[in-house]
Amino acid sequence: MTDATGLKGRAAELLAAHPPATTGRLDFLRARFDAGLAWVHFPEGLGGLGAPRSLQPVVDAELAAAGAPDNDPRRIGIGLGMAAPTILQYGTEEQKRRFLRPLWTGEEVWCQLFSEPGAGSDLAALGTRAVRQDDEWIVDGQKVWTSSAHLARWAILIARTDPDVPKHRGITYFVCDMTDPGVEVRPLRQITGEAEFNEVFLTGVRIPDAHRLGEVGDGWRVAQTTLMNERVSIGGMRLPREGGMIAPVARTWRTRPDLRTHDLHQRLLTLWVEAEVSRLTGERLRQQLAAGQPGPEGSGMKLTFARLNQEISGLEVELLGEEGLLYDDWSLRRPELVDFTGRDAGYRYLRSKGNSIEGGTSEVLLNIVAERVLGLPAEPRTDKDVAWKDLSR
Ligand SMILES: Cc1cc2nc3c(=O)[nH]c(=O)nc-3n(C[C@H](O)[C@H](O)[C@H](O)COP(=O)(O)OP(=O)(O)OC[C@H]3O[C@@H](n4cnc5c(N)ncnc54)[C@H](O)[C@@H]3O)c2cc1C
Repeated sequence: MTDATGLKGRAAELLAAHPPATTGRLDFLRARFDAGLAWVHFPEGLGGLGAPRSLQPVVDAELAAAGAPDNDPRRIGIGLGMAAPTILQYGTEEQKRRFLRPLWTGEEVWCQLFSEPGAGSDLAALGTRAVRQDDEWIVDGQKVWTSSAHLARWAILIARTDPDVPKHRGITYFVCDMTDPGVEVRPLRQITGEAEFNEVFLTGVRIPDAHRLGEVGDGWRVAQTTLMNERVSIGGMRLPREGGMIAPVARTWRTRPDLRTHDLHQRLLTLWVEAEVSRLTGERLRQQLAAGQPGPEGSGMKLTFARLNQEISGLEVELLGEEGLLYDDWSLRRPELVDFTGRDAGYRYLRSKGNSIEGGTSEVLLNIVAERVLGLPAEPRTDKDVAWKDLSR
C-alpha cells in the first residue's frame, strides 16, 4: 500500500494515534519517522516505505492540512539534502540506524567539513590529514566556509588518509563528532554582516573507525554523492508558482504602481518567465530523482538558480530605488538557518551573491555541464597521476 491512497491512509492513522494538537512537536516528528512517512522513498525502518519519491508531497499535504508540525527543513538542509543520501548509500546498517532518525527530526544538526583554505573548487587537493591509530583516526587540519558548524552536532568530513597516491585516490569520508574537544569553531562574517558560516580547526580529533563512511581511500567517490545531492538541494527546491526570489518583486510590482517603468516591466516579465521555466525544470528533475541518485543535470539547475536569484534580487533593489538600500543590520548575528530568500530586499541582494559560490562555483558547474552533460572535451589535468605529496602548493 505505497500508492497515494495507501499513504493517505497511513497519514490518517498517524494523525489519529498522535493528534498534532495534543502531541509534542518532537514526539510527533519521531512518530512520523517511525511510521515511514518522513521521506517515503527511504527503506522501511529508516523513515520511509520504499515508495516513489514523487509521492512525498501527498503525505506532506495531508499532514500540513491537519496542522502537524514539520521538521523545519531550512534549519537542517545540510543533513537532509547532503548527509542523509550519502549515509543511505554508503553507511552500514548500524550507521543508518544511529544517524538518520535524529537527523530527520532535527534533533541533531549536521554541517559539511569539505572546503579548505587551499581546496575549494579543487576540493580533491585537500590537506586535512586522518591517520589511523588502532580503531580510531586522528584528524588534524583546517576547514573553512562551514555553514552551521556553530549549531552542528555532527559533520560529514573528508580527509587525506594516503598522501602517496594521486589526490583523488587518497581521501576517506568520515562522520565527525562536533563535540570532540579537538574541534574549534570560529565565526566568519559575510557580506550581509552576519556569520552564517565558520572556519573550523581540527586538532587531534578522534574519530572511531566505525564512523567511516565507505572504504578507506574511496572518499572522493562517496563525496560525489554528497556534492551531486548538494546541487539539487540548493538549486532544485520545490516551489509554488511565483515562489522563491520572484515572489517579493512581483508583489511589490502589483502593490506599488508608483515604482513602475516600462523598462523594468520588460525585465520583470522576462525574469518571471525564466523563473517559471526553472521551476518546471526542477519538477522534472525531481521526477528523475524518484528513480535514483541525481546526476550532473543538478549542476545545470543550480547554475540557473544562482543566476536568477542574483538578477531578480538586483531588479528588486532597482525597482525599490533608495528603499531597496535599506536593510536590517545583521552584523555578527548567528542565524539559526541558511536563508536564501528571506528578510528584506537588501538582504536578498547581498545573500544571493553567495549562491554562485556555495555548492560549487558557477564556473566549475559550467565545466561539469560541458564535460558530463554535453560531452565536450575535458579540461587538461596535469596532476592526475602525481602523488598528492608531490603536488606544488
Ligand atoms: C555561503 C557559502 C556557504 C558555504 N558553505 C560551505 C559548507 O558548509 N561547507 C563547505 O565545505 N564549503 C562551503 N562553502 C565553500 C564553497 O564550496 C567554496 O567557496 C567553493 O567551492 C569555491 O571554493 P573557493 O572559495 O576556495 O574558491 P576557488 O576555488 O579558489 O575559486 C576562485 C575563483 O576561481 C574560479 N575557478 C576555480 N577553478 C576553476 C576552473 N577549473 N575553471 C574555471 N574557473 C575556476 C572559481 O569559479 C572562482 O571564481 C560555502 C561557500 C559559501 C559562499
